[in-house]
Amino acid sequence: MALLPVVAEEQVLRTRTREQSLCPQIWALLDNVYDPEIPVISIWDLGVLQDVSEHESRVEVAITPTYSGCPAMREIESDIRKTLNHAGYSSIEVVTRLSPAWSTDWMSEKGKQQLMDFGIAPPTPTWDVRKVICPQCVSTDNTLISEFGSTACKAMYKCHNCLETFDYFKCI
Ligand SMILES: [Zn+2]
Repeated sequence: MALLPVVAEEQVLRTRTREQSLCPQIWALLDNVYDPEIPVISIWDLGVLQDVSEHESRVEVAITPTYSGCPAMREIESDIRKTLNHAGYSSIEVVTRLSPAWSTDWMSEKGKQQLMDFGIAPPTPTWDVRKVICPQCVSTDNTLISEFGSTACKAMYKCHNCLETFDYFKCI
């Protein structure tokens, strides 16, 4: 039986893009931009922030929306501008990349842990069939109650161990 990868290949490529970037200070600034719906997870750890480049005094930031039509993206774009403006960058272009489409595999391990701490079950890897984990008691003995939780990108589960219901961040 082949060993399953621990980290998605996409995740490795994203990390490489960031590590090889010529403007690490801008990436670091953008670590202060969080997802409006889950304010504990940064747009980098969520897998939304794709690339950053600086040409003379112009900064270009590439982002990929999570779920299509997610209203949070407008807010994220405005937060990116505000954060960079505060740091003295005035010419900012935010580019939306729709292809390849965002996948929960782009979420970092840190991001998944932060989701869990926030009370939301993190998405299981797309190549894995592991069960959903209850963020309260870490039990895998739970059942799907509703395909739609507090938002369309979450499903609602009930844990049979601690009897709590919780949101699961759907895997795509
Ligand atoms: Zn539980």
